[in-house]
Amino acid sequence: MQTVYDNKKVCCGCTACKCICPVQSINMIADEEGFLYPDINHEQCISCGLCKRICAFQNKNYTADSIRVPEVYAAKHKDDDVRKKSSSGGAFTAISDHILLKNGVVYGAAYDESFRVVHKRAQTTKERDELRGSKYVQSDLNNAFIDIKEDLTNDRIVLFTGTGCQAAGLISYLKNAHVDTKKLITVDLICHGVPSPNIFKDYIFYLEKKNRSKIKQYFFRSKVNGWGHTEEAVFENGRNDYTSRLSQAHKELFYSDLCLRPSCYNCKYACIARPADITIADYWGVEKYFPKFYDKLGVSAILINTNKGKEVFLESADCMEYIKSNINDCASRQNNLHSPTPINPQRAEFWSDYLHHGFNYITKKYTHYGFIKRIRRLVIYILKRIRGLI
Ligand SMILES: Cc1cc2nc3c(=O)[nH]c(=O)nc-3n(C[C@H](O)[C@H](O)[C@H](O)COP(=O)(O)OP(=O)(O)OC[C@H]3O[C@@H](n4cnc5c(N)ncnc54)[C@H](O)[C@@H]3O)c2cc1C
Ligand code: SF4
Ligand code: SF4
Ligand code: SF4
Repeated sequence: MQTVYDNKKVCCGCTACKCICPVQSINMIADEEGFLYPDINHEQCISCGLCKRICAFQNKNYTADSIRVPEVYAAKHKDDDVRKKSSSGGAFTAISDHILLKNGVVYGAAYDESFRVVHKRAQTTKERDELRGSKYVQSDLNNAFIDIKEDLTNDRIVLFTGTGCQAAGLISYLKNAHVDTKKLITVDLICHGVPSPNIFKDYIFYLEKKNRSKIKQYFFRSKVNGWGHTEEAVFENGRNDYTSRLSQAHKELFYSDLCLRPSCYNCKYACIARPADITIADYWGVEKYFPKFYDKLGVSAILINTNKGKEVFLESADCMEYIKSNINDCASRQNNLHSPTPINPQRAEFWSDYLHHGFNYITKKYTHYGFIKRIRRLVIYILKRIRGLI
């Protein structure tokens, strides 16, 4: 019987197999962690083997016309407001503005009406603004690859932005679907890993319950405290929270590496050879290498991986200040340019706790949100023991 992946470590959920199947016999189905995996309808499948053959993650078979060592820049958008609304220095806005000016279309990760992270297509700056900002949750690509194929077939310029594995999946899909990719520009991110959509869904629900109000906006990388990582929820009742322990609980879960997709611990793109034309990231450590260039609203690292990438960067660079750097300095604070994020040894326990006891339980057990309660319980326990001794 045809299979498309043997274990979860080798499937990043890129949808390329689903999109290429000639008889549409693959659906993407969420597992108990909320990550999507291809599921073959064996009654329809004609066993052509294409799905597995084109899987970039399992074969790592993309052929970017790579300049082997990327050209690296530290860059920042000249507009303070853009930097404020971007996670790093606003490189994404600079590049996507240029594509929109050329009547191109831009694909990237946005929220839907219930804060699920999904890939959307933007043709205007207003639509593009929804794609701004990192969302630390795996995005659902849905039919983005098929829409991109249609755009390219209609001779549109397309900018695709996403994780390395998504960019590699797209490139492999288009190549195998025999689509001309001259007008495709790909931008990927240096990527720590993508957390579970189910955990984020429960988190939003929990925040709304605690604050007795729906959430209006959620920023994974709010700039209220400057460039760094502060998460901020804005509620319909006028409250906004970026200071409570609960407001930073999702961030803690992200960095604990307890709820990343299994393939992230086995990432094929945690290296300097990138699948995309351009790679963007935070330029962590810029204050050491270019102290005068440091900016409290953020600085981007831009890695130019291909000749096409260089052309697009130069064409979009007018709205940025930039300075030439090198891969060694840029990679010195980027673990995920060297190796995948290591799995947290408590991951299995975490998911067992989640599945048996739910979100409230794991948040209190695995983040500082439950810290005060744990201390209070400990103090009560100690007092009881002392009283018992007296
Ligand atoms: C899951 C994740 C992990 C990351 N890990 C690192 C890291 O380890 N080191 C580092 O330096 N940078 C990392 N980044 C990249 C960084 O956070 C910024 O996204 C990047 O520097 C671009 O910032 P910007 O200011 O140019 O533009 P922004 O406007 O902030 O750009 C947002 C861009 O990110 C894309 N994006 C947002 N969320 C997702 C998502 N869930 N899936 C796919 N694409 C998405 C959008 O499509 C858009 O292109 C990560 C980003 C994500 C989403
Ligand atoms: S990595 Fe992509 S192409 Fe490969 S099996 Fe998973 S969804 Fe399919
Ligand atoms: S083997 Fe062919 S028909 Fe079957 S699921 Fe894969 S691509 Fe579709
Ligand atoms: S860490 Fe690797 S596998 Fe995971 S989302 Fe990022 S690029 Fe994909």
